[in-house]
Amino acid sequence: MTESFFTPISGMELPRFAGVPSFMRLPVMDFDHPRISEVQIGLVGVPWDSGTTNRPGPRHGPRQLRDASTMIRAQNGATGVRPFDLARCADLGDVGPNPADIIDSMERITAFYDTLTSKNIVPLTAGGDHLTSLPVLRALAKDSPLGMVHFDSHTDLYHSYFGGTMYTHGTPFRRAVEEGLLDPKRVVQIGIRGSTYDDEDTDFAKAVGIRLIRIEEFFARGVADVMAEAREIVGTTPTYISYDIDFVDPTFAPGTGTPEVGGPNSFQALEVVRALDGLNIAGADLVEVSPPFDSSGNTAFLGVSIMFELLCIMADSTTP
Ligand code: MN
Ligand code: MN
Repeated sequence: MTESFFTPISGMELPRFAGVPSFMRLPVMDFDHPRISEVQIGLVGVPWDSGTTNRPGPRHGPRQLRDASTMIRAQNGATGVRPFDLARCADLGDVGPNPADIIDSMERITAFYDTLTSKNIVPLTAGGDHLTSLPVLRALAKDSPLGMVHFDSHTDLYHSYFGGTMYTHGTPFRRAVEEGLLDPKRVVQIGIRGSTYDDEDTDFAKAVGIRLIRIEEFFARGVADVMAEAREIVGTTPTYISYDIDFVDPTFAPGTGTPEVGGPNSFQALEVVRALDGLNIAGADLVEVSPPFDSSGNTAFLGVSIMFELLCIMADSTTP
C-alpha cells in the first residue's frame, strides 16, 4: 500500500471536475522534488507534433489528456488491479520542446528521459505525435535494444519523406531499428491497415524480421490468440509498448491526424493491453491524440483509459 502522498485525490473527497488537473490526479513533481527518488512510474507529457506530415494537433494532447484523466478512478474494474497501491506514481510534468526545431526537440526529450532513467523511474508517456517514441527510446535503450509491442494502423517504418527528411511520425521505428534501439526480431506491430504509398515499409519489416499483424489477421484470429503470439515474440526481456490512438477505429477515436477505418472498437482497445500483463515493461506511450479533431472529447477519454490499462500492467510488473 502506498502512502497518501502518492495516492490520487479521490472523487469521494474532491469532485473530479474540481482542482488543478494532473495525470490521474497524481502529485506533480519535477526532478528537484525532495521525494523524486521514491517514484517508480512517472507519467510524462510530450506536447509536440513537429513530426506530423498531415493533420496536426497532438501538441495539445497532454493538456487534454490530463483533463480527461481526472475521470479515472483508483481500481481497474475488469482486473481488480489497483495500480496506485502497487507502485508509487507521479505526474512529472511536460518535456518542453522547441516547436521550431525538430533536432533540438529530440535532444531535449532524450535528455529528460536520460534523467528519468538515471532515477530508475519507468515512464508512461502521453504524446505528442509518434516521432516522440524515437527520442524516448534513445534514452531507454541506451545499453541494449528493447523488444516492442506496437499498436497502430501504420508501421511508421518508412525510410524518409519529401525526398530525404528522415525524422517524421512515419519513420520513428525505422530509425530505432537502424540505431540499434529495437531488436527487430522482438518487435510486433498490430492493427496495420489503410491505403499505403507502396511496400517500402513492409519490405523493410520483412527484411529485418519484424512481425506485422494486419487488421484482417487480427479479426480472423481474435484478441486472445494474437496477443498470445505477441507475448511470445517479446518474451521476458525488457519491452516497450507504443500505442498510437489511430489503432482504434475512428468511430471511437476520431481525434487523430491519420485515421483509418475498419479498426478495433474501444473494448478491444483495452483488451489488447490487459493481455500484456506480466511482461517486462521498460516503458510505454500513448500518442497521436489530436484535440482540435476531437470535438466530443471521446478520443482523449479513450486515450487516458488506455493509459490507465497500461499503468495497471506496468504497476503489476514493477511489483516484485
Ligand atoms: Mn504511429
Ligand atoms: Mn498511426
